[in-house]
Amino acid sequence: MAAVGLTSGWRIARIFGITIRVHLSWIVIFILLTTTLAGDVLPLSNLAAGGSWWGGVEVAEKIDKYQRAHPGLSDEVVARRYGITLWPEWQYWVLAVVGTLGLFVCVLAHELSHGIVAQGVGIAVEGITLFVFGGVARIRDEARTPGAEFKVAAAGPLMSLALGVSCWVIYGFLGGVLLPQARALIYYFMFINLALVVFNLLPGFPLDGGRLLRAAVWKITGNLQRATYIASLCGRVFAAILMAIGALEFLVLGFSLGGVWWVVIGLFLWFAAKASYHQVALRETFAGLTVRDAVRRDVVTVPPDLTLDRLVDEYIYRYRVRSFPVVRGETLLGTVSLKDVQAVPRGGWPWRSVAEAMRPVGNGSVVHLDEDLVSVMRKMMQRRRGHLAVLDGDRLVGTISRDDMQSLFEIRSDLGTGRTPPPT
Ligand SMILES: [Zn+2]
Repeated sequence: MAAVGLTSGWRIARIFGITIRVHLSWIVIFILLTTTLAGDVLPLSNLAAGGSWWGGVEVAEKIDKYQRAHPGLSDEVVARRYGITLWPEWQYWVLAVVGTLGLFVCVLAHELSHGIVAQGVGIAVEGITLFVFGGVARIRDEARTPGAEFKVAAAGPLMSLALGVSCWVIYGFLGGVLLPQARALIYYFMFINLALVVFNLLPGFPLDGGRLLRAAVWKITGNLQRATYIASLCGRVFAAILMAIGALEFLVLGFSLGGVWWVVIGLFLWFAAKASYHQVALRETFAGLTVRDAVRRDVVTVPPDLTLDRLVDEYIYRYRVRSFPVVRGETLLGTVSLKDVQAVPRGGWPWRSVAEAMRPVGNGSVVHLDEDLVSVMRKMMQRRRGHLAVLDGDRLVGTISRDDMQSLFEIRSDLGTGRTPPPT
């Protein structure tokens, strides 16, 4: 469960009222994992009679040595000398596809557990997106109590643990009666589920382990923002350790795909920890505030028939403001910003009017006085607008800008006026 803004992806199902999406980056995992399984893991598992793939490494070395001593003998012939029947090539590929789709199901089960428990404690779940590093349960609100946070965070790893242990039991007790191909798959499913438990329990926010840590610190200090800060700091320390392992691998072993993975996962965790801390800090600091608290009321408006060169000279330079509401009479028509002007070639500025360059009302350039600041911030990011016009009913009362919100955020953070959650 990581706080990554992944709202895109193919919608594939709806389970317990939760929409499941697959992000495009899953194709990367599909190809990488299927080729790794078919090319390395399953053939080695084959040599270990359907057991662990590292158990097959030794046999592979023996076969290799035998072949060098007796050139011209095929893999099949040598393997048979050791009592092993090699599976046909196509079977590796079929099993690899089943293994990759199985990982998909295991990750989905993990994320669904988070989602279902979140709904159970009264937190709205927007959906689940599966992407290259696993899955993200997109949860709209933060948990209101440390206890709720703990339950939601623990649900995923518990599901993975249950799946991993089930596979272990099947492998241990029924392994003898199963085909080696089935045994190899069950061993692999045990491995990935337990790996999911271990990785997700790393105590760095926004991983599950970091959320458990945050819940604990929150419980002790009663301060969500400080708890988030500590958990996200731990997340960055772990990220740095992963990247250092990758760098060390480069230094000692030279360039390797394994090293790249360490670095990529480390980078991902680093930015996720930073971003999710910022998100929580923002939410906490702006809790209870509306546009009313950040609106700039001394607003200068521009008429729609003004030419763009006059807009630049007489308004943007003069007031050093990047965006203006466009008004005719009492009616707000839209907003025009420096960016909109830049989109028009400079040669056209003396001839083109504000009305031609502006973003009309209804195109996401307007917010209302009573909207809460967290949702306004989200709108600005989604629409890539630094300024929005503010309406009271349908009357223009001012503007709100990202810079103003940023200064308000800094002042409130310095004064420590963020909401402190009630003790449980
Ligand atoms: Zn999780």
